[in-house]
Amino acid sequence: MTERLYYNDSSLNEFDATVTAVEEQGDQALVSLDRSAFYPTTGGQNFDTGEIFGIANGSRVRVIDVQEQEQTGDIVHRIECPPGWLSPGVPVRGEVDAPRRRDHMQQHSGQHVLSAAFEKLFAFSTVSFHMGDDVCTVDLATDAMNAKQLESAEKLANEIIAEDRPVEIRFATADDARAMGVRKIPSAVREKLRLIDIRDFDLNACGGTHVRSTGQIGSILLRKTEKVKQGVRVEFVCGLRAVGTARRDFQTLTDAAAVFSTQLWELPQQARKSLDEVKIAQKAQHRLLEEVAELQAVNLLQTADERPIGSGQKLVIQFFADRDLNFIKMLAQKLIRLDKSAAFLGCGGAQPSLVFAQTQGLPNDMGALMKETLQKLGTRGGGNRDMAQGGAPDADRAEHALSEAASTIG
Ligand SMILES: [Zn+2]
Repeated sequence: MTERLYYNDSSLNEFDATVTAVEEQGDQALVSLDRSAFYPTTGGQNFDTGEIFGIANGSRVRVIDVQEQEQTGDIVHRIECPPGWLSPGVPVRGEVDAPRRRDHMQQHSGQHVLSAAFEKLFAFSTVSFHMGDDVCTVDLATDAMNAKQLESAEKLANEIIAEDRPVEIRFATADDARAMGVRKIPSAVREKLRLIDIRDFDLNACGGTHVRSTGQIGSILLRKTEKVKQGVRVEFVCGLRAVGTARRDFQTLTDAAAVFSTQLWELPQQARKSLDEVKIAQKAQHRLLEEVAELQAVNLLQTADERPIGSGQKLVIQFFADRDLNFIKMLAQKLIRLDKSAAFLGCGGAQPSLVFAQTQGLPNDMGALMKETLQKLGTRGGGNRDMAQGGAPDADRAEHALSEAASTIG
C-alpha cells in the first residue's frame, strides 16, 4: 500500500520515492510508488497532475491521471513515457502541479466551510460534493432554499475565511470521532479516521487535501441553485476561481451594457424596455402587413381570370420573391374570404414555401394537390381540402410548382 504523503502535509509538492510496479500500455504506463504526494480522485476531489523525474535516466515525464486501487490501496499514476522507461526498484522524484493542487485545496476546503455554514444556519446537511473543472457543487438535504438563505451562508462562510482559522489534521477512532461530535462517520472505516478540524467551526472526517488556515481559501462565491432528486444543488467557486468567475461575469455584463449603451446596473431595465419595444414594433408590423395583404388581395382578384370559364371561381397564381410564408398565408385567407377563389401562392426568401387555398364549398382538393406537388419536390407539408402549405427546395422550383398545380384545375 502506497504511503500517502499528502495525508500529513497537503503543501508537499516534491518527494522522492521508489517504483514498486509498472504496467506498460503503449506510450503510457501505470506506475505504483512506495510513497506519493499525488492525490488520487476520491471523495469528490479530482486527481493531481504533474511530472515524474527518473533519477537514474535523467529525464522527466507527465503524470496525466492518478487513481486509487481499491483492493491494494496503492496509488496508481498514469504517465506518458516510452516503453522501458521505468522498472520496479528504481528511484524517482515526483513533482505535483502546484497551481492545480492549490486550486483543488481551495475548492475542497471551501466546501468544508460552506457545508458547515449551511448546517449551522439552517440544519441543511451535505449529501454530496462534486468538483468540476469550472464550478463545484454541493447537494444539500432540503426541499427548498431562498435567496436570503443563500446569501447568509455565503456571508458566514466568507467571515470564517476572513478570520483565518487554523485547519488541522487529527486522527481518531470511529468511537472517539463520534464522541467529538463529528458530523458524518464514513461507513468503510480504516483503523483510524482522519479528521479535518476547522477551529471552533467544523470537524469532519475526510481524506482530501486542505489548506492550512481558512484564509488560504481566499473567498467563496455562491452561484445558482437547482432542485435535484436528493435536495437542492448549490453551485460555488472558491479562491482564484471565484476571482476568475467574477471577472468573466463582469466582462459579460460590460459587453451587454455596451450593446444597450447603458450602465451595468441599468441593464435589466434597458433589456426589458427593448423587449417591450420589439413587441410593440412586431404588432405594428403585423397590422401593416394585414393592410398590405388586404390591398394586394383586392388587386389580384380584380385582374384574376375566371377558370375554368363559367365555373364562378377566380384563379389567382402569384409568386413573391421577397415575402415569407406568414405573409402568403395571410394573403390566401383574405383572397378566399373576399371572393369565390382558388389561390396558388408562393414565396422565396430563406424558406421558399407554397400555399394552396380555396373558398369553402369550391370543388377542388387543395390538400391532395399540395401532397402531389410536395412529392415531386421532395419536401414536407400538409393541410386540408381548403387550405394547405408546404416547403420548396428553392425559389425557382416554388414558382414553377405554382403554375403546374394551378393548371390541373384551370
Ligand atoms: Zn475534505
